[in-house]
Amino acid sequence: MSVLSVNSLGKSFGGVRAVDNVSFDIGKGEFLALIGPNGAGKSTTFNMINGQLAPDAGDILIGDRSIACMQPRDIWRLGVGRTFQVAATFGSMTVVENVQMALISHARRILNLWRPASSLYRERALELLAQVGMADSADRPSRELAYGDVKRIELAIALANDPQLLLMDEPTAGMAPRERNELIKLVKQLVIDRGISVLFTEHSMDVVFSYADRIIVLARGRLIADGNAAAIRDNAKVQEVYFGT
Ligand code: ADP
Ligand code: MG
Repeated sequence: MSVLSVNSLGKSFGGVRAVDNVSFDIGKGEFLALIGPNGAGKSTTFNMINGQLAPDAGDILIGDRSIACMQPRDIWRLGVGRTFQVAATFGSMTVVENVQMALISHARRILNLWRPASSLYRERALELLAQVGMADSADRPSRELAYGDVKRIELAIALANDPQLLLMDEPTAGMAPRERNELIKLVKQLVIDRGISVLFTEHSMDVVFSYADRIIVLARGRLIADGNAAAIRDNAKVQEVYFGT
């Protein structure tokens, strides 16, 4: 059963067809990589799914419900989460306070609890930090964290919203190869443990081929391949786009 369906999606910016007739499904519990050269339309696709951009063709469905014209917060309410950039964590707060904030805002918006007691959320926040391997840093100011650790906190914050589908556009940007591997491995484990689905972009082919359950390839706005690592590696169109062969 699919968690999300993208049907004949399209988006232009001026004369540029950034996304052109793209269709794919995301299955429950799937760890799905969206790859393609710079400018292929990956971020535009993400931003249409999370509601930041309105498509000018096609549709995006959760179940039988179209989300193509919904506001980001309504899409978020339906269980589509995303990781935010570094700036979204507040340096003056401790690590655990940042995660508590996310839990509180989730409780307010989703559960309609107006003034949830923040102390209640410390334990839950600590659990989330443990899941991303950051329990030991709970009471440190966020500003002291190394870059790779900030990425883990962003993941904990995204999980605080209890998403069914998590969108991660370049989660490992700026990371060293070893850190990249570790973060993606961690996300994959969370996918397995929680049964959620993840759509992510990643530049390292090694990482993508090692961890993704399935890979979708975009080139100049078009979907040129959709399959597992072996199928994508052997795909002639993909080789042409990446290696010019
Ligand atoms: P990717 O994330 O795969 O690198 P993008 O989705 O960011 O690609 O971009 C796809 C194409 O759309 C590129 O040609 C890019 O220049 C163009 N584009 C993306 N966003 C905008 C925008 N806001 N305004 C104009 N052109 C854009
Ligand atoms: Mg991009």
